[in-house]
Amino acid sequence: MQSKPLVVVVSGPGGVGKSTVVKRLIAKYPQLWLSRSWTTRQQRPGESSEAYNFVTEAEFLKHVAEGGFLEYTNFLGNYYGSPTPKATGDQDIVLEIEVDGARQVLDSDPKALLIFLEAPSIEEQTKRLNDRGDDPDKIQQRLIKSAEEANAGRELGATIIVNNDIEETTDQMWSTIQAHKSSI
Ligand code: 5GP
Repeated sequence: MQSKPLVVVVSGPGGVGKSTVVKRLIAKYPQLWLSRSWTTRQQRPGESSEAYNFVTEAEFLKHVAEGGFLEYTNFLGNYYGSPTPKATGDQDIVLEIEVDGARQVLDSDPKALLIFLEAPSIEEQTKRLNDRGDDPDKIQQRLIKSAEEANAGRELGATIIVNNDIEETTDQMWSTIQAHKSSI
């Protein structure tokens, strides 16, 4: 039996519906604990202040120097990082992060599971990026970054799930987690 909590990394390009799916997964399965990332990115209009711990670059870099992150990266000009998780009892840990962070987590914990979400189509992905109010110039950058991320996800041996339907996707993620747990 595995005693250490499992680390489940959920990656996928912007506009894939990652946060919505992860929120649903956590609500449905209280055995999972969602890590709250730090970022130096500006809060988007309408974005919950709970979405991240929004910090200044100085605060972020101080935390890096103190060894306070499990992983961190610079994504399109802003820092993002997962604080080192505290004890979570019996719960497994979910990190919703991009692929550079995923690689760092897998390097330090080879038993971690990587799930990579993909959008059903580029049209749907572009629509979701527009709907959430990203800057138009950032949208183009994020779409370009998507293709790189999909390649990196495959190289890292991620389980790829196409997010067609939120309930179906969360169920597929849950079965993937269970199968992984029984294989380690
Ligand atoms: P967004 O600006 O859209 O909220 O996030 C940009 C990207 O950074 C997304 O792919 C998101 O999953 C990722 N991200 C969020 N938090 C973290 C983190 O703590 N570490 C890393 N490496 N990526 C993160």
